[in-house]
Amino acid sequence: MKGVLTVVSGFSGVGKGTVVEYMRGIHPFTLSISATTRSPRPMDQEGVTYYFLSREEFAKRAAEGYFLEWAQYTDNCYGTPKAPVLEAIERGEDVVLEIEAQGARQIKEQYPDALLIFVLPPDFYELKARLEGRKTETPERIKARLSRAIEEFDEIPYYDHIVVNETIEQCAADILSRIESKRSTPEWQKEFIARLRTEADRVMEEL
Ligand code: 5GP
Repeated sequence: MKGVLTVVSGFSGVGKGTVVEYMRGIHPFTLSISATTRSPRPMDQEGVTYYFLSREEFAKRAAEGYFLEWAQYTDNCYGTPKAPVLEAIERGEDVVLEIEAQGARQIKEQYPDALLIFVLPPDFYELKARLEGRKTETPERIKARLSRAIEEFDEIPYYDHIVVNETIEQCAADILSRIESKRSTPEWQKEFIARLRTEADRVMEEL
């Protein structure tokens, strides 16, 4: 059985990174590490949070088809390396992509089976406060991220589910239950059901 490909998106500052990190402690999955042209923040680690690439290198890889999807967000490019994601899914591992809305659409077009989840804040003032609390962004960049959030409202209808981040624990549990639901559909379990059906015939013959 192949793994579930889940996209987790949400406005910048909504806390989706923290939620996804928390989820890892509850349910094993492969977290895709994206490439980006943005500068590392103090908490960033090369090859752990992102692969940091020059604009030239990013453009070269995009042209070579290295990315499953890629998008420009504010003034930088972000992309999901294709091979690790496809390999993990084939191994039966669930994969989570923490990416923005344009990328999410590209994923759904290529993989209609993907689960698209959009994380919302309980209110918009809290989102602004969270971005300001990071202390890593200039007021201009905060404004750019909030304007981007306004644009992203239009993308929400393309997602399968919305989840409100009231608390990290509840938000993580909501997302994980969506993944579990996907795994338990007859369509997803068709190989298992077919095996059971063959067994059932054998049992009847042996009676
Ligand atoms: P940040 O600069 O805050 O780390 O990320 C900015 C935005 O880019 C976030 O919404 C994040 O989810 C998104 N993002 C991160 N990696 C990727 C990626 O590989 N592809 C796309 N399309 N968006 C990404």
